[in-house]
Amino acid sequence: MNQKNLHLSEEQMNICFRKGTEPPGSGKWLHNKDAGSYVCVNCGQELFKSDTKFDSGTGWPSFWNPANKANVTTQNDFELGVRRTEVLCSQCGAHLSHVFDDSQKPNGRRYCINSLALDFKQKN
Ligand SMILES: [Zn+2]
Repeated sequence: MNQKNLHLSEEQMNICFRKGTEPPGSGKWLHNKDAGSYVCVNCGQELFKSDTKFDSGTGWPSFWNPANKANVTTQNDFELGVRRTEVLCSQCGAHLSHVFDDSQKPNGRRYCINSLALDFKQKN
């Protein structure tokens, strides 16, 4: 794991490297509708674009597709006794959250992502 995380806050460290989850509705990007890119808060790799962001009603920023398939890694997570699919940044291994197959989007995907794991770069 390539941890360049000296600039991360304790809250961000909890999400990215201790697999925490921010309280629903608390995230700063939840209602952000600006055009731009969401990047990994730890390493800056682009993860999601604003045009795939949607309001899933869950309280976490949701996207139906990553900016680039190669930029996110997924793996099985059995932490809660059920199988979920964990989503990580492919470059630094930061935990982003989980992806579910229950959205109304064309591919059925819902990447349910912690705001604390993301930084936003507005399009100019
Ligand atoms: Zn990263």
